[in-house]
Amino acid sequence: MIRDIRLYGDPVLRRAVKPISDISEQVVRLAEDMAETMFARGGIGLAAPQVGESVSLAVVDLSLRGNHGRTLILVNPKVLGQEGEWVYEEGCLSIPEVRADVVRPQKIVVRFLDIDGNSHEIEVEGMLARVILHEVDHLDGVLFVDHLPFLKRQLLKPKLLRIAKGDISLKDDRPL
Ligand SMILES: [Zn+2]
Repeated sequence: MIRDIRLYGDPVLRRAVKPISDISEQVVRLAEDMAETMFARGGIGLAAPQVGESVSLAVVDLSLRGNHGRTLILVNPKVLGQEGEWVYEEGCLSIPEVRADVVRPQKIVVRFLDIDGNSHEIEVEGMLARVILHEVDHLDGVLFVDHLPFLKRQLLKPKLLRIAKGDISLKDDRPL
C-alpha cells in the first residue's frame, strides 16, 4: 500500500523514533509499504517517520527501478564509524522542490537488523553511505536542511515555510 508522505512542518518528522523490539507482521507490512511508497515516488530511500510512523525503520534502494530484491531494509540502524567527507546535492521526499549540497562522510560502518531479525555490520561508501546517513538522520528527527550553513538555510526559509503551509506539494524530482 502506498502511504502518504509527511512533509516538512509535520511534527512527526522531528520526533526521535522508538527502536523496534519485535519484527512483527505489522513491521514487515510497514517495510513493504515504505518500499512501495519509495518506488512510487521515485525515491532512493525512505524512513518510517516520513510515512508517519515513529519507529526505527528505513528502506534504501539505489536502483530506482522497483527491484525489491535489492532493497535494503534497515531495522534499528546505527552508524558505528565514519571516514572522509564529500559534498553532493541532496533532496528529500518530505521537502519537495528543495535541493542543496550536503557534506557527509564518504565511508561508514553501519549496524542494523534485516527484516528477518539477523544482525549485520557492513562498511559502505559513496552514494549508499550518503542515503543511509540521510535516512538515519530522519530516525533522529534530523532533516538534510539542518546540515546546511546558516546563510543557505536562511535563503531556503521562505520555501520551507511554504511547504509547511501546504503551498508546495510532492513531485518526483529524484529525491533521497
Ligand atoms: Zn529525506
